[in-house]
Amino acid sequence: MAEENLMEKIVSLAKRRGFVFQGSEIYGGLAGTWDYGPRGVALKNNIKNLWWQMFVDSRDDIYGVDTAILMNEKVWEASGHTGAGFTDPVVECKKGHRFRADHLENKEECPECGEAFSEQKAFNLMFETKVGAEGDTTSYLRPETAQGIFVNFKNVVDSMNPKLPFGIAQIGKAFRNEIAPRDFIFRAREFEQMEVEYFVKESEWKKYFDEWKNIMIEFIQSTGIDAGKVHEVEIEGDDRAHYSKRTIDFEFAYPFGQKELWGLAYRTNHDLVKHTEHSGEALTYFDEENKEHVTPHIIEPSLGIDRTVLAVLVSAYREDELGGEKRVYLAFKPSLAPVKAMVSPLLKNKPELVAKAREVYDTLKKEVPQIMWDDNGNIGKRYRRQDEIGTPFCITIDFDTLGEVPENKDTVTVRDRDTGEQERLPIAEVIKKVVDAIK
Ligand code: ATP
Repeated sequence: MAEENLMEKIVSLAKRRGFVFQGSEIYGGLAGTWDYGPRGVALKNNIKNLWWQMFVDSRDDIYGVDTAILMNEKVWEASGHTGAGFTDPVVECKKGHRFRADHLENKEECPECGEAFSEQKAFNLMFETKVGAEGDTTSYLRPETAQGIFVNFKNVVDSMNPKLPFGIAQIGKAFRNEIAPRDFIFRAREFEQMEVEYFVKESEWKKYFDEWKNIMIEFIQSTGIDAGKVHEVEIEGDDRAHYSKRTIDFEFAYPFGQKELWGLAYRTNHDLVKHTEHSGEALTYFDEENKEHVTPHIIEPSLGIDRTVLAVLVSAYREDELGGEKRVYLAFKPSLAPVKAMVSPLLKNKPELVAKAREVYDTLKKEVPQIMWDDNGNIGKRYRRQDEIGTPFCITIDFDTLGEVPENKDTVTVRDRDTGEQERLPIAEVIKKVVDAIK
């Protein structure tokens, strides 16, 4: 697939087919915000459900939580986010163009207008807000979901009695006032994360770091992200967060360059130590074996959902020729596709076809919720629309189904998204085919 204009094509398809819209679009937008439409939210939920299934529900050592976005401001003092630890270097030219200094090759003059830059400043990425009628309490929209987990460490230990090693997981929104939001949903100011904080004995961190690396690789395969475009990059000394002793970035070859998709970090016991110091609560674990209180060390697989959605879209985007015509389709894994199957009567003005098609639709929808009814336009148009949505199967009810050709009674045609080929199958078999494909 030629990378030329690929992003433009994906952004335009995402809008045309109801995946992603610009935030506040009718008011001219708000930079760095995006709204997911009906297909986009279905795709995103399918990704989140897959993650929750693999990282939480299929294991007995991970505890899920859903913590508040607004937190006591002391959390961010302890974590270092209000200090120098969570700033990006910014430069501004005389005409007011702002850039992240570490993203510029030439730090002397503005790439937009050629004017000289002012001195580099540190810009804190947290969104500050005021809480309460008097507005005298400062809070922040959380810039990562991780801290909600650390401050609940004691609650989870006391209420669940987990045995080390164990993890706490959450999916949720995070906010960063990015200096230059760009590249569609890749760098947004409001985004979502899926994070696990996995607590281990210090002596075992290497073993679990490798284990989580492998789980992340497995997740790449399960999402249908093109593994050939994913690169593991070891982050060296100075580029790592100060508390991390090892970090790997999983980078993806997006059309605009190879950039961070997810991160995996060994955070030592830094977070629990800091929150213990600042809160006065002992965030420790009682090791029954050695009869001592220990502060566990932490392995953190951190996955951005929006960057995952974009990598899935880039990996699925295809152009080919079918029956002499150019077409575009999204080759999603059936399990992640926002619509699993479309059901359609060949002609919408024939009540007997419509009634039979409704029957098939209702039966299938009981088994698989993400089923779509489509009787708009001619059948060719419907197929092209479903290709762009990435629907793996299109099921059409025609006169044969009604028994016009007696041996074809109660059979339907099923069209395969990837090959465009159609086969005729009994209704019961088609239902099984769809159910099996999404398992
Ligand atoms: P970058 O260097 O690209 O700014 P980061 O290293 O600051 O990213 P982390 O703090 O490691 O990112 O955040 C964990 C994950 O959250 C990232 O791997 C990414 O998937 C996601 N993420 C971070 N910032 C954004 C953003 N502005 N928009 C969308 N997703 C983001």
